[in-house]
Amino acid sequence: LEPSYQFMLRVVTPGGVSSPEQWLVIDELADKYGSGSIRLTTRQAFQLHGVLKWNLKNTIHTINKTLLTTLAACGDVNRNVMCNPNPEQSEIHAEVYEWSQKITKHLAPRTPAYHEIWLDGEKIVDSLEIAKVEGEDLVEPIYGPVYLPRKFKIGIAVPPSNDVDVFSQDLGYIAIVEKGKLAGFNVTVGGGMGMSHGDPNTYPQLGRVIGFITPDQVLAVAEKTVTIQRDYGNRSVRKNARFKYTIDRHGLEWFVDELQERLGWELQPARPFTFESSGDRYGWQKDKNGRWNLTLYINSGRIADTDGLQLKTGLREIAKIHTGDFRLTANQNLMIAGITTAKKKQIIELLGQYGIAEAGNYSALRRSALSCVALPTCGLAMAEAERYLPTLLDKLEPIMEEVGLKEDEINIRMTGCPNGCARPALGEIAFIGKSLGKYNMYMGAGFAGDRLSKLYRENVGEDEIIDILTPIFKHYATEREKGEHFGDFVVRTGYVKPVYNGLEFHS
Ligand code: SF4
Repeated sequence: LEPSYQFMLRVVTPGGVSSPEQWLVIDELADKYGSGSIRLTTRQAFQLHGVLKWNLKNTIHTINKTLLTTLAACGDVNRNVMCNPNPEQSEIHAEVYEWSQKITKHLAPRTPAYHEIWLDGEKIVDSLEIAKVEGEDLVEPIYGPVYLPRKFKIGIAVPPSNDVDVFSQDLGYIAIVEKGKLAGFNVTVGGGMGMSHGDPNTYPQLGRVIGFITPDQVLAVAEKTVTIQRDYGNRSVRKNARFKYTIDRHGLEWFVDELQERLGWELQPARPFTFESSGDRYGWQKDKNGRWNLTLYINSGRIADTDGLQLKTGLREIAKIHTGDFRLTANQNLMIAGITTAKKKQIIELLGQYGIAEAGNYSALRRSALSCVALPTCGLAMAEAERYLPTLLDKLEPIMEEVGLKEDEINIRMTGCPNGCARPALGEIAFIGKSLGKYNMYMGAGFAGDRLSKLYRENVGEDEIIDILTPIFKHYATEREKGEHFGDFVVRTGYVKPVYNGLEFHS
């Protein structure tokens, strides 16, 4: 008898956009073959958990039939390309989203193995249009015979929102909008969140801006950057295999020279931009086309029915009548986008019927919180995250309320291990699991995701966390400057040193 192995399936959703039809398929698969819930990830992808080995093929086949794919959602290749789900500038979003799709297609592995194994060789024309392999030879023009040394992450931000945490990406594009038009992108390289406890040779790093490119140069820059990592990434020490270490080892100047040589042209000087926050804007907003967009707070990205909140059922019913799309945000939330005025009333009724709040019912602290899956699903987890963060927030919220901070957003992030899936090093307050019930606590990241947090206390449990944060919250409430964010405050008042370079993260 074969053991009943379970798997997690991640579905590539470039820019987090899926149609109502795709939503309904994912919803059905979660019930039929998964654990009954859907998880929206911090990379704007779907995850299905608990898929038994003998159900994998049917699940993957059905996902592909709905024009989504699991190909390159994991592995040492380019992962799901993230993109700001911006509802306000619908034209810019459409253009930027298109680039996220193009990058995904351009960097998709050409291997036919995926189709042979999971789809019986069938070429389902999916949204990624996976390139065909011509002739007998398997050609991976970008990845080569041994692929990348490690996973590779790309994100596109549209200022003033840095919701995709562009500085956490291996390669980031910052949209530069001039006179209402997309002029191009500033390029960032060498960001990444993961590290290992107790190993100072591993650290989170911020991407650095290296210049400006026009839209037609986006694919070339992505391709050449990936090939540089392919050729120079560390293949001996996996812990140091990410692109950030390649850049830090060789230097930024070396990288820019190498990139420009491979491109055959030079990047332009970076153009000015300003980020204001890395969070989502909740509630209803109307776009320029007169359609409505509703961003819902989703606790840790988990779409499930629970007592009093029929989130999964409610969203299924909305998907049945919705004529726009669903946008998974980089903060694990969900935007129901492109709602016509005619459908708005129906959707409001369905939200009410299934107990789905429009985010206003949640505290600002909770709305700004991110956590990874961790226990019991993730094999790397050392501590709880998704299941525990709501409990910790229950205890922190009254303290925030008491000191008058109920409406103040503080980015708080928790992960079960230092791999950093919820980008904890960019949390103004962050907890990274060390062992059951114990976390290393970090503070001081920039509210807009432009500065790293710094270790403040090691190995703390719930009681210590509350004891530590209570006086700091009081201090912040009474002595902050006008408009000063929590991360800036704890840096200014000396709780932690500012970290703008990951090489100083441990010092
Ligand atoms: Fe990622 Fe670690 Fe969380 Fe697992 S426990 S989801 S590897 S951060």
